[in-house]
This record gives sequence, structure tokens and C-alpha cells, in this order.
Amino acid sequence: MQHIVIIGNGVSGVTLARHVRKLSDNKVTIISAETDYFFSRTALMYVYMGHMKFEHTQPYENWFWEKNRIDLVKGYVEKVDTLVKTVQLANGEEIPYDTLVIATGSKPNKFGWPGQDLEGVQGLYSKQDLDNLEKIAPNKEICKRAVIVGGGLIGIEMAEMLRSRKIPVTFLVREKSFWNGVLPAGESALINEHILEHHIDLRLDTNLVEIIADKNGNATAVVTDKGDTIECTVVGLTAGVTPNIDFLKTSGILLGRGVKVNRHLETSAKNVYAIGDCAEQHEAIGNRRPIEAVWYTGRMMGEALAQTLCGNPTEYAPGHWFNSAKFLDVEYQTYGWVFSERTKKDCEQHFHWRHHKEKICITMAYDKKSKLFLGINTFGIRMRHEIFDRWLTEKRTIEYVMEYLKDANFDPEFYKQYEEEVVAKYNLEQGTNISTKKKSWKRIFSKA
Ligand SMILES: Cc1cc2nc3c(=O)[nH]c(=O)nc-3n(C[C@H](O)[C@H](O)[C@H](O)COP(=O)(O)OP(=O)(O)OC[C@H]3O[C@@H](n4cnc5c(N)ncnc54)[C@H](O)[C@@H]3O)c2cc1C
Repeated sequence: MQHIVIIGNGVSGVTLARHVRKLSDNKVTIISAETDYFFSRTALMYVYMGHMKFEHTQPYENWFWEKNRIDLVKGYVEKVDTLVKTVQLANGEEIPYDTLVIATGSKPNKFGWPGQDLEGVQGLYSKQDLDNLEKIAPNKEICKRAVIVGGGLIGIEMAEMLRSRKIPVTFLVREKSFWNGVLPAGESALINEHILEHHIDLRLDTNLVEIIADKNGNATAVVTDKGDTIECTVVGLTAGVTPNIDFLKTSGILLGRGVKVNRHLETSAKNVYAIGDCAEQHEAIGNRRPIEAVWYTGRMMGEALAQTLCGNPTEYAPGHWFNSAKFLDVEYQTYGWVFSERTKKDCEQHFHWRHHKEKICITMAYDKKSKLFLGINTFGIRMRHEIFDRWLTEKRTIEYVMEYLKDANFDPEFYKQYEEEVVAKYNLEQGTNISTKKKSWKRIFSKA
């Protein structure tokens, strides 16, 4: 029996622990500085918005850990010694390990802005961030305005949170259009409009220069590179995240932006592994980024590593890319690869359809020559993950996808009308004559 010590009780560390317990009798200890128990980070916003209590973000009852013999230690790991195989906590305690797993997640980026450490300035990542936001932005009387810096998924979540309490929000976005390094132009434009319609003061193509303090050291205004000074009491820094690995600088473990790992999630140190947001692949897998700060990547890495640690060496092989998020009330899903104008390759062609009134649109990417379907983004329509996964594996063409689009619809009755429109637009643009069909579910998933 070996002692597996996991630093970090986020989705990657906890998935690993649960699966190790299913597969073996090894001793498992999880150390975390943030909270006593695992919670769903993606649900933090709903606590502030009053949709749920913090306790409801914890997927497991408190007795779960003892019953499953997963020891929990609350503490901050300051040092890792890979020679004597111990981790040292901030309180001086030393914990020995046979196998160490680093699952320490991310921290919000700070780019050295003057005033970035003032009171009232914070990111949105941890439970402590949530508690602090509740303190500094409880209502619009105390927080007269918030300025959010950085237009990604967390920025828009923070804007939605603050707007739910009617706090005026100014949103500084460096790009000329929202998230246009990731989203194709049509989608990015749709989200710009949606943000403005939600009474968020969106300032595109605008950078933060500095945050000004009042005499008590609290944020009182920001200055932008457009020369504007915007009075505010809260500044949200949401310009991306970076792996949370500063405490490893003296460990001798090979670090890049994250902890460098191979496909088996091994670091440069013997019996030390890294998973989740903090892991950086030596070589990117396919079109994927070497670091993927997304929920399901942490979960898949935890599952793969549990196999390896329990005697079944398993590579991290993530399959087709997918993700989902929400832009205010518009749901977004992505399957396969749909690159933005900035990042797309020459061979990639896009088909874009947008509803004339509602915030609903689809972009499909395909290969110009072979018509191979590469991926789809949907806004305001929910699609079936398993169907797109299958079509990507089967290397279907865009025309096949058009023909059977109805099969991919999550709620065919409700969305029936859109497919006809989507396919009609494709036919018009391409001079094709595709009519939408529907296979039965039995046929889709039978081998025949
Ligand atoms: C507001 C928000 C919304 C998000 N929404 C989505 C979404 O919709 N979809 C999606 O795919 N992803 C989303 N993400 C990203 C997703 O939550 C992360 O990718 C995921 O939680 C990372 O899990 P992890 O286990 O790698 O690390 P984490 O969840 O960050 O857990 C790491 C833990 O380790 C602790 N730790 C760090 N260093 C030490 C140390 N030295 N000693 C002790 N403990 C330490 C940390 O305090 C933390 O508790 C969101 C993230 C945020 C912040």
C-alpha cells in the first residue's frame, strides 16, 4: 500500500482521489488551503446571485470523505522536497508521500498594473474571492460602480453577478470585439450586443492603465488608455488565469508556465505527477493548448492518472474538444474546432447562421476542399454532445451534418424551425439542395 498525497481539492484532485479509492486500497490524503471540502468552482457565481447557498455547491456530503478513507488536511503547502519525499505546510508540519500529485489549479492574472493590490481590487477564482466580493459589493448603495478588466468567460460572469444586484458595471476589453481571439466575428458581435443590452458599459479596444487609491488605500477610480477616469469602488481583474505553482520554484521540478508533464502526467521528478489547470503538456495534443484551464480537462486527467497509479498505465488522451459556458443568459457550446478569424487556418471555411431576432446563432467550420466537418459553435441552441463526438470521429462532411442536423438537436420539437432555416441558408450560399432528415436514435447508435 502506498501513500498518495494530492495537493489541491479541486475537481482534478478530488476526481483522482475518488477513482484511486474505487480501484485500490492505497492511503489517500488531500491537502488544500482554500476550503475544508470540495466545491464546484463553476457554481460560485450562483451563490452571489442568490440562486443557491454555498453548501449546495459541494457535490458530496461531509461524511463522504471519512467513509471513503480519503484524509483531508487543511493547510498551505510551502515546500516540496522530492529527495526525502515530503511536503511542508505553512504551519511547519511535514507530510511524507510515496506518490505526490500536484493539482493546485490557477490564480487570476495580474500584469503589474499600478494599484492592482489595493483594497477593492480582486479576481474571481476562490471561495475567498466570493466572500470578499460579498463584503465590498453587497449592494449598489455601497458599491456605486464596479470596473471589470478583461473580457473572457470569468469577466462576463462577474459582470452578470454584479448586475444581478443592480450595481453599475463598466467592462474594459482590450480586444476590438468581445473574445474575438476565440470566437468568430459573427458570434463575438452577437455577444457585444447582448452585453450592451444588459446595461453593461462595454468599452472595447480599451486597456487599464492604473487604479487610483483614496486616502485609505481603497480603489476609487481607474484610468484607461483612452484617457478616461472612471470612478468606482470595486475593480475585478479577470484577464485570464495562470497556473498556481509559485511554491514549487525551489522544488527542482521542471516548470514552464505550468508544471511540465508528459502524456502520463509525470513531472520531471520521480513519483510526482501534475493534473488539472496547473499541468502543462510538453507538447500540445493536436490543436489543444498545452495548458487547458477547463473543468472537464481536470476531471479527465484525474481519471486517467488514477488508472496509472493503480497499476494500469494510462495516457491522458482527451478525444475531441468540447466545452460549454454561458454569456449572461445565452448558452454557448462548442464541439471540435471553430477558430476565430485571428487563429483560423487557410483551409478552414465557416458557415454562419443567425436568427433574425433572437440571440441564437450557429457557426460550423469545415475544410474548404474536402468539406470535412471540423466543428460547431452554438449560441442559444443546445446540441447533443454524443452526436457531434461521433460525427467528428466518423469524419463526416459538412453536408452530412446539415442533412442530419435534427438528430443533433437536444430538444427537436422546440427548435424544429431553426434547422430548416439553417439548411436553407447553407443551400442558398453553396448552391446545394440538402433537405434535413432524421434518423431514429436506434439507427444512429446501432452498428448497422
Ligand atoms: C468563476 C469561474 C467560472 C468557471 N467556469 C467554468 C466553466 O463554465 N466551464 C469550465 O470548463 N471551466 C470553468 N472554470 C474553470 C474551472 O473551474 C477550472 O478549470 C477547474 O476548477 C480547475 O480545477 P483544478 O482541480 O485543476 O484546480 P482548482 O479548482 O483551482 O483547485 C486547486 C486547489 O488547490 C489549492 N492550492 C493551490 N496551491 C496550494 C498549495 N500550495 N497548498 C495547498 N493548497 C493549494 C487551491 O486553493 C485550490 O483549492 C471556471 C473557473 C472560475 C474561477
